[in-house]
Amino acid sequence: MSNPKIIDGKAFAENIRNKIAAQVASVQKAHGFTPGLAVVLVGEDPASKVYVRNKGEQTKASGMASFEYKLDATTSQETLLKLIDQLNKDAKVNGILVQLPLPKQIDAQAVINAIDPDKDVDGFHVVNAGRLATGGQGLVPCTPYGCLLLLKDRLGDLTGKHAVVIGRSNIVGKPMAQLLLNESCTVTIAHSKTKDLPGEVRRADIVVAAVGRPEMVKGDWLKEGAVVIDVGINRVEKDGKFRLVGDVDFQSCVARAGAITPVPGGVGPMTIAMLLHSTLVAACRQHGVELPK
Ligand code: NDP
Repeated sequence: MSNPKIIDGKAFAENIRNKIAAQVASVQKAHGFTPGLAVVLVGEDPASKVYVRNKGEQTKASGMASFEYKLDATTSQETLLKLIDQLNKDAKVNGILVQLPLPKQIDAQAVINAIDPDKDVDGFHVVNAGRLATGGQGLVPCTPYGCLLLLKDRLGDLTGKHAVVIGRSNIVGKPMAQLLLNESCTVTIAHSKTKDLPGEVRRADIVVAAVGRPEMVKGDWLKEGAVVIDVGINRVEKDGKFRLVGDVDFQSCVARAGAITPVPGGVGPMTIAMLLHSTLVAACRQHGVELPK
């Protein structure tokens, strides 16, 4: 029997995708439109190409329209901004995602902030960051949103829990901390300058690791029963073989944790499921209709 402590993000994400497919069919029937997601890839980054292909495939599998734009690595910022402007104006496109990282000649934040905030399904636009911080109705970054759903599924009400988020990036750490604060957790944000990271983690009921350092969080850092969400995706080599590991040392942590996400198969699959969810939400808002139950 599989270990009940291990959070099966793959199965959870599949359930969400099935629900979204039913909701897409329902809006098509009731309101006659098909939500559409445009994904823009600039350059040849191998990991980005895989992500973009998966996003396109899962968008189509959910019944939504997928528009893919593949631009050369030498594309200028001006050309990319023109494409964003065109997609902002295209009524068939309800969500726009520019795959990061972008080549050096392009200022990623300028491009993100050129996207219509109501089509910014990645939730990285400064307006959506502001809405998240002030309790407004925005679009939420997909990875932290997926982490939150996994936590709520395990723990129910998060009120009063002490959460430690390791990492303060704009795309994971900060929005994760904000989401947990919105759930009335007491939140500590740790980063590379934090003085006693194991000591901070030891006080946590919830640990979210978004660092980018293979297997950094050790089992003896954890309070017994803590719920551990591992966002990290690190490709490591051992004996000539590559494998993916998280930011959490799974073997030592699984023994003390109350629940834990594996890598792969934990947070990763949730990100695209939440992207599809945000696209559907954006489409419904743009058409002024309720999200189907
Ligand atoms: P960033 O590199 O942008 O941020 C990493 C954060 O970790 C920074 O805030 C940094 O602190 C902090 N940090 C670095 N070293 C330490 C340390 N020794 N102790 C404590 N904190 C430290 O990464 P991202 O947020 O973009 O991504 C984090 C991880 O999540 C990566 O492995 C990435 O691949 C993965 N990821 C996974 C996704 C998924 O779908 N599952 C989606 C997005 C990311 P400081 O600010 O001080 O430099």
